[in-house]
Amino acid sequence: MSQRLRVTGRGVSLPVNTARRLVGALLDLIYPPTCGGCQRAGARFCERCLAEVHWLDAGPVCLRCGRPAPDGQLCARCRHSPPALDAIRSAALFAGPLREAIHAFKYGGRSDLAEPLAGLMAAFWQRCALPADCVVPVPLHPSRERERGFNQATLLARAFAAQTGLTLAVGGLERVRETPPQIGLSASERRANMRGAFRIGVGILPGRRPLIVDDVCTTGATLEACAAPLIAAGCETVYALTLARARLQM
Ligand SMILES: [Zn+2]
Ligand SMILES: [Zn+2]
Repeated sequence: MSQRLRVTGRGVSLPVNTARRLVGALLDLIYPPTCGGCQRAGARFCERCLAEVHWLDAGPVCLRCGRPAPDGQLCARCRHSPPALDAIRSAALFAGPLREAIHAFKYGGRSDLAEPLAGLMAAFWQRCALPADCVVPVPLHPSRERERGFNQATLLARAFAAQTGLTLAVGGLERVRETPPQIGLSASERRANMRGAFRIGVGILPGRRPLIVDDVCTTGATLEACAAPLIAAGCETVYALTLARARLQM
């Protein structure tokens, strides 16, 4: 597969990604994008909204589940019943302009927000990377993906992998069955709802320390259900990173 694209008739060729970025930048000049967080024209996620992002590495977090923990060790919940995942991290709180942007990204036809939103994950990762060796997006059920036209986790994972240099493993996991919406369910109901929802996919897993990527983590039930087949398949450690985490009472 050619990774290079001839862009002029004078023998100058550019990598596909560079050419795409140049075309994108040119289009942005002609049709300025609007911010997914505040709708102002100029950037896809503007400086003002960026300043309002509540980063989750601003204070100490539980080593396992990534929720705020005063001593930066294991929280009471993880000491009592540790999650199957070796570590869950989320870049920021699911609130304010970031919440608006995620909503626009998933439901408002703004798939162009994948790049700047993954940029937030990459910025977080630069500060607190885990020793993962490949990126696996949380799969949608094929019928849901057809309906939406894309899988938001795949778009985020692809842009995140490109920005961090990690290998992307699309198809590493498959969703076996469609699950009812999780809204309004308790943590244990969510776990029961998600149990057995995923299996190892046809895609080759290019590593033994996968990082599962999703947009939002609420109780972690989806990530746990994704981790189960990876652990059963012999992965050494399984990590997860989400763009945002819903505020939860401990
Ligand atoms: Zn904004
Ligand atoms: Zn914890």
